[in-house]
Amino acid sequence: MDVRKLLKASAEARNLKFGKSIHAHLIVINQITRNHVIEKNSLINHYAKCGDLSSARILFDKMRKRNVVSWGSMMSGYSQHGYAQEVVQLWRKMVNVDKLNPNRHVLPMVLSSCSNCGLLDEGQQCHGYALKSGLIFHQYVKNALVYLYTMSTHLKEAMQVLDSPPRSDLCTYNSVLNGLLAHGYLNEACYVLRMMIEELEWSRWDGVTCVNVFSVCGHLKDLILGRQVHGRLLKIGLDHDLSVGSATLDMYGKCGDVSQMRKVFDVLRARNEVTWTAALTAYTQNECFEEALKLFLEMDRENIVPNECTFAVLLNSCAGLSALGYGSSIHARVEKVGLKHDIVVGNALIYMASKCGLIDDARMLFESLLDRDVISWNLMINGYSYHGLGMEALDVFQHMLSELKQPSYVTFVGVLSACSLLGRVDEAFYYLDHMMRDYGIEPGLEHYTCIVGLLGRARRLDEAENFIRSSPLRWDVIAWRTLLNACLVHQNYGLGKKVADVLLEIGPDDAGTCILMSNMHAKAKRWDKASAVRKLMRERNIKKEPGLSWIEIRNDTHVFVSGDTNHVESVQIREKVKTLLAKIRTLGYVPDIATELHDVEEEQKEDWLGYHSEKLAIAYALMKTPQGAPIRVMKNLRMCDDCHSAAKYISKLTNRTIIVRDANRFHRFRDGFCSCTDYW
Ligand SMILES: [Zn+2]
Ligand SMILES: [Zn+2]
Repeated sequence: MDVRKLLKASAEARNLKFGKSIHAHLIVINQITRNHVIEKNSLINHYAKCGDLSSARILFDKMRKRNVVSWGSMMSGYSQHGYAQEVVQLWRKMVNVDKLNPNRHVLPMVLSSCSNCGLLDEGQQCHGYALKSGLIFHQYVKNALVYLYTMSTHLKEAMQVLDSPPRSDLCTYNSVLNGLLAHGYLNEACYVLRMMIEELEWSRWDGVTCVNVFSVCGHLKDLILGRQVHGRLLKIGLDHDLSVGSATLDMYGKCGDVSQMRKVFDVLRARNEVTWTAALTAYTQNECFEEALKLFLEMDRENIVPNECTFAVLLNSCAGLSALGYGSSIHARVEKVGLKHDIVVGNALIYMASKCGLIDDARMLFESLLDRDVISWNLMINGYSYHGLGMEALDVFQHMLSELKQPSYVTFVGVLSACSLLGRVDEAFYYLDHMMRDYGIEPGLEHYTCIVGLLGRARRLDEAENFIRSSPLRWDVIAWRTLLNACLVHQNYGLGKKVADVLLEIGPDDAGTCILMSNMHAKAKRWDKASAVRKLMRERNIKKEPGLSWIEIRNDTHVFVSGDTNHVESVQIREKVKTLLAKIRTLGYVPDIATELHDVEEEQKEDWLGYHSEKLAIAYALMKTPQGAPIRVMKNLRMCDDCHSAAKYISKLTNRTIIVRDANRFHRFRDGFCSCTDYW
């Protein structure tokens, strides 16, 4: 019987015991003591494959003469069991001590170990050797080199190897696309994708290819290509694959086609918790929060156990809806299954609490995290700024720096907003011009818009205008609207008019801009101008989005539309609003009818004001919640001046904390004051 064949068979079968008995037999017949390289190689290979690396290594170290197969067998054992460092160390010894040349099996193994350990220098030496020896023309060697350069983000070199012979195969493309996507190099991924479509037939694509291609489509929002690939993979029959299924859902979600996503999901034959979570994520990304929560009920019904990503997505949906009740029940479940300390879930909990107006709870969750990543810090800093608590935001930022955490692009959006809240102009410019650059962060539109808001808030309106006009940036509607809002608050109607002209040029059909302009004209008592804006809105069919407010009482959501009489308790609610307004008049409240859009008599304007959705919501909450309980209202538009003033007086009158989240920020009304200090 051929000993080598037996050892090979036992290695393939991972039968350690059988191989060991052969080893023992060889010792007994004294054959092993002589230097039989081939038999020893077979033994090493056997032990390495069976995972007994120390036995393999003892044999290997004792060999007086080793050939390239001995080295290769030992390396392959380390490589298969994840010891990439050992592979590279063996490679160094093989070249320097035994003076052996690698073959086409050893070289790719060393190259991929170099990639995994980030050892570019060694990898490049291998590249040099591959060129000299001609091994570069072997497919495995080429693929390993492409992988090395992509993973170390040496894209120029990666593309050079990719373009050189031999022709790239599926493996080459899969590994290069994988690497490019992992590092976010979308343009390059797109270039490689086009090359692949030209050179490789669709029928040869495998699951990994489809996942990669869907990922490119998703990032580029290329629905057309995504659909084509989906059609093809149905033909190849790859739709059974779990990861391909999730990638398909992900692609449709990122491209914004949720109905197609759902169709695909409903007919998927293989589904697990990852697939379900991909569908939930697609809904959440497209702000279909309710659909996400509904789908989760189905997931529960099918007894699929959610993972940490599932919970994070659900919490984000709750945050999007400000559905505190539902969010709390998810929170309880997270605690029950012991995922509270998972960082992804922990961050989602902070986000949910902050979005639902519970900034103190968010802080408590943040403090209780065992591990904090940059996202945790950003959530806290931006959360405080969003809640108008600039001081707290900057405190957390200082704390972050003292723990030597690296701030990111998003961190500075929160920090600059905080400076704006506090009127700290010089400090903000220090962050923008120095600190961000020290951290290697290029300031972007969001940061510059914060500066415009900051200067506007500090009454330095001309400076704000100069800042916009002198920066070579492509400003968007938001920045100019921020400036227009500042002109409105500080009653600088001259500049306001100029800014409005610019705005009408870049976004003439924007309802938000039109309303701000009309408000400005009305405040300046230029009624003709105000009515001209309204005429323009009618002509262009620009509709003001109806004002919508909602509150949650004992897990039920109550929605109020401005001027709406459909609520079952509509009569009582209006009665309540009337009494409230009458009572706060005695405290000094004066209805602000200037900004009301309707062409009606003053008295009727007051009436209209009383039916603004947030007033209805506050009145209803006062009727239905116990004395002293805080009131939380969510609103889709910016809160109007009149409701803002009324809410301040109502908080004083009823001794309640009223929290209103409008389209811009949180307002916390307490004892006659608002946390936004009347600037929003
Ligand atoms: Zn209002
Ligand atoms: Zn406010």
